[in-house]
Amino acid sequence: MTDEQIYVSHAPADLELVQELFSTVKNFPFGVHLALEEVDDNSERARLEGRLVDSDVVVAVLTNRSARSRWINQEIGYARAQGVPVVPLYDDETCRGGFVGETDGVSIARDDPSKTIFELLCDLRRELAPLGPLSVPNWFVEFPCTVSACPDRVVLEIEASQSKLWKRYRHGKPLAASCDECSSTYYFNPATIGFIRRENGTR
Ligand SMILES: [Zn+2]
Repeated sequence: MTDEQIYVSHAPADLELVQELFSTVKNFPFGVHLALEEVDDNSERARLEGRLVDSDVVVAVLTNRSARSRWINQEIGYARAQGVPVVPLYDDETCRGGFVGETDGVSIARDDPSKTIFELLCDLRRELAPLGPLSVPNWFVEFPCTVSACPDRVVLEIEASQSKLWKRYRHGKPLAASCDECSSTYYFNPATIGFIRRENGTR
């Protein structure tokens, strides 16, 4: 799962929402390209076609604001013409519209971003799963240990299925990863894979 590329097609007005929903997705070792972070303004957007072709999945953010954006329709059409799967991330059924109607996608729960991020991760994990017997590939997040002067990197292995992660979230049981060098432990939200806190090691 290290070279996969995700392209996020969204309206300029939704950039803040998109940054919030993708804040932890960006920690995974694949490329996440938000359309409006890649260009200075909408007029340059046409040159993102190369990014689209190289993507393993396109997430289309469909809101009332994006309904009027010709870019999103174009990008979805282009992705589909190239055979790139499109995951709709939508405010409500009317935003989802007809042209991505065949995939379920993720409904945006504005009052519950954790749930939205969890469901987004479910879809990405499904889309980026390799063919073959491993239907749930191990995912991981790697980051530098934040203890001062500790040179090590820490790896959070995500072996549990999405349904098990949701159960852990409901029971308030965080995921943990330890630094081999200084034995600090890092805790993560099992639903969003967001960082919660660090406990310093004894060494
Ligand atoms: Zn460390």
